[in-house]
Amino acid sequence: MPFSALGLSDSIIKAVTEQGYQTPTPIQEKAIPVVLAGDNLIAAAQTGTGKTASFVLPILQTLQQAPKVRAKRVHAVILTPTRELAIQVEDNIQHYSRYLEVSSMAMYGGVEIEPQQQRLIEGVDILVATPGRLLDMLTRRAIHLDETRTLVIDEADRMLDMGFIADINKIVEKLPRERQNLLFSATLSAQVRVLAKTAVTDAVEIMV
Ligand code: AMP
Repeated sequence: MPFSALGLSDSIIKAVTEQGYQTPTPIQEKAIPVVLAGDNLIAAAQTGTGKTASFVLPILQTLQQAPKVRAKRVHAVILTPTRELAIQVEDNIQHYSRYLEVSSMAMYGGVEIEPQQQRLIEGVDILVATPGRLLDMLTRRAIHLDETRTLVIDEADRMLDMGFIADINKIVEKLPRERQNLLFSATLSAQVRVLAKTAVTDAVEIMV
């Protein structure tokens, strides 16, 4: 199947082609249409399967229709367990959005909070964040999630292993009820299922 069969715009296809991608990976073939349809998704996929593009590409596509983001707001939040993964996902977003007017930012702990806070003032389309730092920003009222329409929980099993469950639940409470939820995990353990029950209801399930 070619990328053009998935309903992605020419600008996105051009960017992924320039990345050297010729055809979608199995997770991309299955997940992209689900995300474009606006459905919730739970996907069991390991790193290396192309899972990042499977949520980033349709989010970029959907954002084409979104109004300009307002101050201290974000259209989509991608939660990752580590700073390294946040940086890596945001780097992918930069590549895939080369031909689009979409802003993105990686936000994580262990570094000064002020520059990140400054960056949020004008709003960001896609925020990739570790849970602790995002909660700090919420407490400071440096960010508001009232206009966030998409939540992605990436590497949910690692997130739970690292003890982020309470933080994730606090973040989910701040999100509007009306939103799209996507959860990716290497394994769908009982613990991951519990998280999915509160954050990602009525989801389509995909295994690769
Ligand atoms: P991920 O599983 O998201 O960490 O992606 C693993 C690697 O596969 C990354 O280096 C991506 O750049 C690459 N990749 C993602 N999608 C494709 C594709 N459709 N064709 C070739 N490589 C890809």
